[in-house]
Amino acid sequence: MTTEDAATIPTKTINIQRATASRINELDFNNIQFGKIFADHMLVVDYKDGAWQTPEILPYGDMMMSPATSAIHYGQSIFEGMKAYRNPEGEIQLFRPLENFKRLNLSAERMCMPEIPEALFMDGLKELLKLDAAWVPPTEGCALYIRPFMFATDDFIGVRPSDTYRFVIFTCPVGAYYGVPLKVAIEPNYARSVEGGAGFAKAAGNYGSALLPARKMQEKGYHQLIWTDAKEHKYIEESGTMNIMFVIDGKLVTPAVSNTILNGITRASVLQVAKDLGYTVEERKVAVDEIIEASQAGTLQEAFGTGTAATIAQIAIIHYNGTDYTLPAIENREISNKIATALDAIKTGQATDTHNWMVKI
Ligand code: PMP
Repeated sequence: MTTEDAATIPTKTINIQRATASRINELDFNNIQFGKIFADHMLVVDYKDGAWQTPEILPYGDMMMSPATSAIHYGQSIFEGMKAYRNPEGEIQLFRPLENFKRLNLSAERMCMPEIPEALFMDGLKELLKLDAAWVPPTEGCALYIRPFMFATDDFIGVRPSDTYRFVIFTCPVGAYYGVPLKVAIEPNYARSVEGGAGFAKAAGNYGSALLPARKMQEKGYHQLIWTDAKEHKYIEESGTMNIMFVIDGKLVTPAVSNTILNGITRASVLQVAKDLGYTVEERKVAVDEIIEASQAGTLQEAFGTGTAATIAQIAIIHYNGTDYTLPAIENREISNKIATALDAIKTGQATDTHNWMVKI
């Protein structure tokens, strides 16, 4: 899409149809169930005849679709996950929303879908959040989870890129993440992603194909798996739907992003905060053998996943080739605990936002 096309998009006009009654009373802010209760409104924008149409904000609800809807058959479907927080003044702020916007367009490009203009994404999102501001939990540790997504809407049977698409944003309040430290197992056979594939995109199909390997590991008693490279299963890539990091001998080590790894926004933020705090950061290939050997030698001090849902999810046990390797106690993990505290303080407006990551609505 050219800049000229983007300029002609009517993002200033958003047709708003308010919900007749709010459902917010259904929500118990002290006991929020993840992903079950959705805020009152959603943003819906259709793409047809080569252009984005006038955005609409509608009451959250079901959408009609043809059984031949091409996203269902051929998988042109992409999404994002991000959060809005309330600061001590009660204002609502988004954490690095432009990064999600950019990643959505990266996914769109890989899946042969149209680019979303920045104004459409940002203005639509802000307008939606203004309308549903009451749904951003005031409770400590809670947030409003935001799910932007785009899918192909042609009712056509035949493998080719769709001519029409729908871009939607809906939101749901989420409670604090009180996850138990994870038991994870290194995956020796399955792959999430291959060289030349779409692993760097947030494409729906990547998640569908990850379910079976994850379930098999869960049946063996592990919370999730550690993905390894598809060719040799020698190098570590990610953990479940999070990026993965290790502290080895005082240094923060993480697999470098590549076309097989999702470039996590939490990952980038954790690395930046680590540098701000003066820690040494290494982004490079991380061999399975290196982690196992470090664990045996006592130099593997920390391991954790990073992602929007948990920010930092501690890993307690790594399983590999018949052995459970137990990592040092969570309370002794200096680096990840410090980074988690620093990041949470930025997100909730309790620390200075030196990198200008927060965007007020
Ligand atoms: N990897 C995968 C496969 C994911 O789905 C996610 C969640 N978006 C992440 C990593 C973490 O990304 P982020 O920090 O942007 O949430």
